[in-house]
Parts: sequence; C-alpha cells; structure tokens
Amino acid sequence: MAIHFYNTYSRRLEAFEPIDPPNVKVYTCGPTVYSFAHIGNFRAYVFEDLLQRHLEARGFQVERVMNLTDVDDKTIRGSREAGISLPEFTARYKKSFFEDIDSLRIKRATHFPAATGPENLAKMIEMIEQLLQEDIAYQAEDGSIYFRISKYPDYGKLAHLNLAELKPTGRIQSDEYEKENIGDFALWKAWDEKDGSVGWETPWGKGRPGWHIECSAMANRILGPEIDIHCGGVDNIFPHHEAEIAQSESVNRKKFVRYWLHNAHLFVEGQKMSKSLGNFFTLRDLLDKGFSGRELRYALIRVNYRLPLNFTFDGLGEARQSLLRIDEWIRRLQAIAGQAVQDPEFSAAKSNGFFAALDEDLNISAALAKLFNQIRETNRLVDHGQLTAGQAAALLNWWEQINQVLQLHEDTESVPKNVATLLGKRAQARADRNWSRSDTIRIEIESLGWHIKDTKDGQQLIKKLG
Ligand code: AMP
Ligand code: ZN
Repeated sequence: MAIHFYNTYSRRLEAFEPIDPPNVKVYTCGPTVYSFAHIGNFRAYVFEDLLQRHLEARGFQVERVMNLTDVDDKTIRGSREAGISLPEFTARYKKSFFEDIDSLRIKRATHFPAATGPENLAKMIEMIEQLLQEDIAYQAEDGSIYFRISKYPDYGKLAHLNLAELKPTGRIQSDEYEKENIGDFALWKAWDEKDGSVGWETPWGKGRPGWHIECSAMANRILGPEIDIHCGGVDNIFPHHEAEIAQSESVNRKKFVRYWLHNAHLFVEGQKMSKSLGNFFTLRDLLDKGFSGRELRYALIRVNYRLPLNFTFDGLGEARQSLLRIDEWIRRLQAIAGQAVQDPEFSAAKSNGFFAALDEDLNISAALAKLFNQIRETNRLVDHGQLTAGQAAALLNWWEQINQVLQLHEDTESVPKNVATLLGKRAQARADRNWSRSDTIRIEIESLGWHIKDTKDGQQLIKKLG
C-alpha cells in the first residue's frame, strides 16, 4: 500500500515515491545552538522521528541529516554576552540538545553536521563562488554577498507567493524576514565589529555564512543535489526553505527536494511557543516538574503533525493517563502470556490498521485510536477470562512492532522485572475480583520498595523514597 504525504510545494497529498527505493534521503533543519531547545522545537523533532521510524517500519532505509546551526546572529550575540568563544558557547547547547533528544527517545540522525565544520564551510564557499561566477550572486558595497532573486524565477513557489505582485524591495541582511519584505538575501555576511573573533577568510573577504546557505551546503555535501524529503516547522517555509531551493537549484540545475513536509506549531494560549515571546518551556523545566521524557514525547506525538497543538499541563496529564493505560495493558498481557509462544491463528491483522493509518500522511490520531480500541477489546476479553496465553503473546508481539515506531514502552530499568510480573498478576487478581490475592501481592510489591495507587486507568507504581 502506498504511503501518502502532504507536500507543501504542491499543497496536495501525494503518493510517496523516493528517487532510489528503498533508500530515502531526508534533511531536517536542526537546532540553533544558542540556548536550550524549547518543547516547540521538540514538536518538530518528534514529528521527524515518527516519520523516520514509520518509513523504516515500512521497509525503507533512511539516511537522515540534521544540521546544527552553530554560527548565526543569535549564537554570536550569545557568546559575546557570555564572554566566551563561539565554539565554547555552542558546545554547551549541543551537549544539552543530545541529552534532550535521548530523553525524548528520538532516534539519532545519521549525520549531525555543524555549520562551522571546515568541510561544510568549504562547500558553502564553493557554492557561493559558482553563484558569483554565474552572476546569480553579487557583492554589495557593504562587502556582503547577496543572492539575486530575479535570477531565480521560481522564487516564492514553495510559500506560494506571487513575486510580480510583491515587487521585491532591496536587499535583506537578516536571516529572517517577513514576506512583505522580500528581496535579495545574504549568502555571506562581511565581517563587522560585532562578530569579534568569528569569521573566515574567503576569496571575497572575511565574513561568515548566512543561515540559508548553511543548510543548502550541508544537504548537498552529504546527501547530494537531489533529496527525497525535507522537513521543518512551518516558520521555516519562508524565507529559509525558499532560499534553500533557490541556492541549491541554481547551483545544481536539478530539483532539490521531492517532498516538503512541515509541522504546525506548538502554541501556548494561541501564540507560537518561541524564545522571543518568552512563552516557552524547555524539556528541563518539565522534568523538574516531575514529568518524564516519555510523557512529553506522547503529548507531542499524539496530535497529527499538520494540526496546531496547544500546550497545556492538562494535556500532559492526559498523556500520563494514556501511558498508564498502555502500561497496565502490557502487564496484563505479560501475566497471561508467561512463556507461551504466539498463537498463529490469532491474527493481530485486524489491528494492522495502525500502520495503514500512518501511511496516510502520518495520521497518528487514527493510528492511536486503533491501538486504544485494541486495548479496550483485549481488556474485555481478559476480564472474561477469554484471552489465551498464545493470544496474549501475539498481542505483545504486535505491540513490539508498534513500539518500534511509538517508543513509548516503560523503561525496564525503572520498573524491575519481578515487580512488573507481580503487577501483572495483581491486575489479573483484580480483574478476577480476588481482593485478598490482590492485597497479598500489594504487600509483596511494597516490600520491594514500591507503592501502588489504583486509579481508573489501572495501577500506578510509585517508587518509595530512600
Ligand atoms: P530554530 O532553532 O528556531 O531554527 O528551530 C528549530 C526547529 O523547530 C525548526 O524546524 C522550527 O520550525 C521548529 N519550531 C520552532 N518553534 C516551533 C514551535 N513553536 N512549534 C513547532 N515547531 C517549532
Ligand atoms: Zn535549514
């Protein structure tokens, strides 16, 4: 069955056909490492993780690049304010970024190139040289190099802008600008005092790259001139991705990207979560409040990536409850399955709708509905003593496959195996209304260092202090 993605370029749902199946080349715009990433940024990375894992579940081999923007206006300003060198400053936030993606169970990309890597800078300079030679780029009086958008007639197509109506006005130095302010954008920024010790020598003078050429160069160097999928948040569409297309296609004369996928924003009370508005949380803030990476992962993943998602603590609480339901279901299945082999007759096929739902532009809410229907049905069978050990084993196997994509399984280290087994037995005792057995098991679990709270979503384990 074909996979479909909504392509921002065509504004249509399209069947997914990579250039060289089963290989899929994916470029994802990564963090600007000038502070801790906020959970809005992680919405983008969690969506990209879901994309990669689903493609892999469907047999594709994904090669993914996620760049680290470690030189731009913001990183330079930050290092100056902190009174340390740019590499020292960005190293801190690179480290925290990797810790955070691990907490969120985001699979590592194949490559994490940093803009200041010498091979990446060399590629940027090579591309700019070519653009200068072909008169697509020019050096302005301030010494900076600009891309002449009039030389790229398709400029504006990704963002669906009509250049004829917009009437380009002048040049833009800054990496980010409004659509109303369209103009030639900076490929290379001539050194000025504010840049301090940051700068690289080039044939046209000392300076530093613009943000857009960084991504074009890293994508081209590592993945080649043509890639299958390019992702980012909707705020990246213009001007960043528009500029990436113009640069790459002018240099290579080949279609740069087949499918453009953009996630909608994470909002807080109707506004985009962002550093500049100050309405943001980092993962660290939430961990300090007692939430786990797994809970945030679920809260971010459970809404389809193209729909805006409003961040609330109630939403996080709901994510926690849903995870408890899944945990409890797994424990019950484990208690019944024991060491049994899967029942081949018992097909989890009816549940395979999970992956089919994801085939449709990663429709995660439909996929999760399949999972929770299965949980409800199975719990009913268990309550009536109608699920065999072989059937439970088959369901556990199905869950394993789903969990390859969702990555929501409770860490085994956090709940020791003997405690998990006892919990499963207690769940069964409670389903059998065998309260005295349930209490005996509770005492046993307590003696192993855990409290149990019975909630409407099942048993909740809480580690005893000390
Ligand atoms: P930045 O570090 O600002 O370049 O952002 C890194 C990634 O996070 C980009 O793909 C952005 O589009 C994305 N992003 C930024 N803010 C949000 C938000 N509030 N919700 C979802 N994605 C976001
Ligand atoms: Zn980028």
